[in-house]
Amino acid sequence: MKTTTLFTLLAGFSLSSQAGIVEPKVLWDKNQITTCFYDKESQLALTRLKSRKDTLKDYNFKPRELSRREKKKVMETVLKDFTPERTGIHFVGWKDCSKTDNPDLIVMEAKGKVPFLTRPTFNGRAVIGEDGLAEQDEQGNFGFFQKTGLVSHLALYTQNKATVIHEFGHVAGLRHEHIHEDSINDKNCHKFGVTVDFENLEQPFVTTLFHTEYDSFSIMNYCYLQTQRNRIDREDKLILSQKDVETLQAYYQ
Ligand SMILES: [Zn+2]
Repeated sequence: MKTTTLFTLLAGFSLSSQAGIVEPKVLWDKNQITTCFYDKESQLALTRLKSRKDTLKDYNFKPRELSRREKKKVMETVLKDFTPERTGIHFVGWKDCSKTDNPDLIVMEAKGKVPFLTRPTFNGRAVIGEDGLAEQDEQGNFGFFQKTGLVSHLALYTQNKATVIHEFGHVAGLRHEHIHEDSINDKNCHKFGVTVDFENLEQPFVTTLFHTEYDSFSIMNYCYLQTQRNRIDREDKLILSQKDVETLQAYYQ
């Protein structure tokens, strides 16, 4: 009996020293993710996007190849923050997909639907974990219960460094930090331009695992990302918060 209590206390303690919100069922089984840059339409068929037409219809954006300069910025930003030592999960490869065997992740540019209005409705979008599938179980509960088995994708409208790290955080399996109940007390969440709507807050799923402490500096937190991204892009500092790193370490080291 005593041993059980002690174990519970210890487990509780080790969880509370981390933060972060994770989808444990769709995390990668490895920590080295082969990443390539989209350069041919046929590559969409490897992913849930299927084709240019389906991407426009189902996901509201036009997939494009990033420019050379943009590819370089994305790669350098990711390589700096996600390292085998720091995060465990890290991203390798970085060639064009037509020169990559068995990619795990395809990175592309996202343009808007309407010609000349090239802005899509998002700055970036990415899968959760290894192409985690959000679905309903027999009881009607939503969750990320399984992976699709398809190649993961990540689409960027902007190559702002904060946005880049946020989207790669999703690929690593992280959810939005502002869905934590303590975000309502975070002043940044109530600032102009922050798109967190407390009346209609994005809901966690039955599969979502919360580590207990709220992290107002998480790059997965809109309240931080959306108020700090211009500063972050100008500076040459690490972007994942200490707690983001600890959360990734808990799963990938
Ligand atoms: Zn996000």
